[in-house]
Amino acid sequence: MIYDTTNIFAKILRGEIPCATVYEDEWALAFNDIAPAAPVHVLVIPKGPYVSLDDFTLNGSNNEIAGFYRAVGKVARELGLAATGYRTLSNTGLHGGQEVPHFHVHLFGGRPLGPMPVR
Ligand code: AMP
Repeated sequence: MIYDTTNIFAKILRGEIPCATVYEDEWALAFNDIAPAAPVHVLVIPKGPYVSLDDFTLNGSNNEIAGFYRAVGKVARELGLAATGYRTLSNTGLHGGQEVPHFHVHLFGGRPLGPMPVR
């Protein structure tokens, strides 16, 4: 998997374009999605150059994977979503409809989200 260093999330990580940061630590950056699909719609991305969940789980270190997923849970708790619940989603590749080729987890919440959409 060749990582495209010009993708928009790579530019955000390098500080070349702005984002509405919600959380940041050694392993992850979380920011508001530019086109929110729910009252809370945050994207959580790893700091490393991984194309997709497939790439991340194949080539990421245990520390990167643990650090990243702990950050996803922490963001949800800090946003007050843990008590009421929330949804996470990662689109992977062509059939997954992935648009930005830097691995990311969508975090949705703030209202009942209904049945899981698979369109
Ligand atoms: P995906 O289809 O899973 O790759 O989703 C990409 C997501 O990135 C979409 O929900 C977009 O609205 C979001 N997005 C694209 N550009 C930006 C940006 N500059 N800042 C925040 N979110 C973005």
